[in-house]
Amino acid sequence: MIERNTFWMIPPMSRIYFYVLAVIATLIFVYGFYRRFRLWRRGRKERVRWSDVRTNFRYFWHMAVEQRKIRRDKLYGLMHRFTSYGFVVLFIGTVLVVVDYDLKVPLLRGGFYLIYKAVLDVFGVLFLIGLLIAIRIRVQKKRSRLWYSLKDNLLLWLLFVIGLGGYVLEGIRLAVTQVSYAVWSPIGYGLSLLFNGVPLFSADAYPLWWFSHAVFVFILIAVIPYTKLFHLFTAPLNMLFQPVKRTGKVSLPYRLDEVVQETPVQGVNKITDFTGWQLLSTDACTECGRCDSQCPAHLSAKPLSPRSIVTKIRDNMAKDREISFFISPEELQSCTTCGACVEACPVSINHIDLILSMRRGLIHRGVMHTEEENTLLRVEEQHNVWGKPWSERADWSRGLNIPNLQRGQEKKKQGV
Ligand code: SF4
Ligand code: SF4
Repeated sequence: MIERNTFWMIPPMSRIYFYVLAVIATLIFVYGFYRRFRLWRRGRKERVRWSDVRTNFRYFWHMAVEQRKIRRDKLYGLMHRFTSYGFVVLFIGTVLVVVDYDLKVPLLRGGFYLIYKAVLDVFGVLFLIGLLIAIRIRVQKKRSRLWYSLKDNLLLWLLFVIGLGGYVLEGIRLAVTQVSYAVWSPIGYGLSLLFNGVPLFSADAYPLWWFSHAVFVFILIAVIPYTKLFHLFTAPLNMLFQPVKRTGKVSLPYRLDEVVQETPVQGVNKITDFTGWQLLSTDACTECGRCDSQCPAHLSAKPLSPRSIVTKIRDNMAKDREISFFISPEELQSCTTCGACVEACPVSINHIDLILSMRRGLIHRGVMHTEEENTLLRVEEQHNVWGKPWSERADWSRGLNIPNLQRGQEKKKQGV
């Protein structure tokens, strides 16, 4: 009968170690997730509107599934699609093993098992190719917008070793068992031909290979919430549940006294003044630098980096400090609200929303340039930025025979 033989050649004691490590890795993962979740909850509550989620779903499909923004960069787009599609399919494959073996639902049998093996084999190769491209980009520093760190490099190598390890295990299994359906795993089958008679890849060596593979997988599970891979969770959450805000939109007109009554917090002065969704969005940042590479303020050497704005909020989320302690007024005031960063961000972070919230906080605290202060005074007193008297408002139309409409009156169309 064709079926998956989970724990082939693995002694009972090693199986116990396996489950103990699985529990430890899962606990570290859950703690890491909960740690960030608690920080998001420090923000102000903002209701999730299901109409927004429906709108967001379309966007999510285009950006997360089709990866339209990421593929604007051809090589990088190819790399990301290969690794992410490969990762997701391999993850689903692992879940099916758990369902089949641990939950005793007989899934991996007969024809379905053969298709399962073939699909995983193909996506495993895509995964490895994607990782090789990513490693090459990083080793050769092929993108100036990236921040290069040892931690990110190690993460890529960890994923690569896990992907490769899966094939080694499969190759040994097929070399030893010589099953008739081996060709359904083309890569594993090819390796099994190479491994035949090599002691390093024999049945005796298999448990060691298997255990080291398991340890690497558990390390990966444990580190996800502490590394960039966390965006696997936070990016979809941000894309799907973030309230819909048009880029740069400020809710106007409004009566200030009404707004003050409804929302006592005007602008953001400390971490807890952000909404929970705004805080979560910063955890979705992968530090890819697309926002910086498009920001006119950043490119013209102004003291603003939209990526740094996001990462500074993320990195200071646990601290009770004023925003001004880690983001300067000059950074916030350098933003032109052009929206290029929001347009470029593949995980849908709304930099403008973050920056404007903090800028309102500055105004609330009276931190502004003299010219900005004068402009606001002119708007307050004369209802225009030039400070022209209200009585001269219609001067420009004198002698032009322009009708003066009263409130509620509408000019009839004149056949134009
Ligand atoms: S909106 Fe501001 S931060 Fe974003 S690209 Fe434009 S100037 Fe830069
Ligand atoms: S904010 Fe978005 S575009 Fe900018 S570095 Fe982070 S993920 Fe990339």
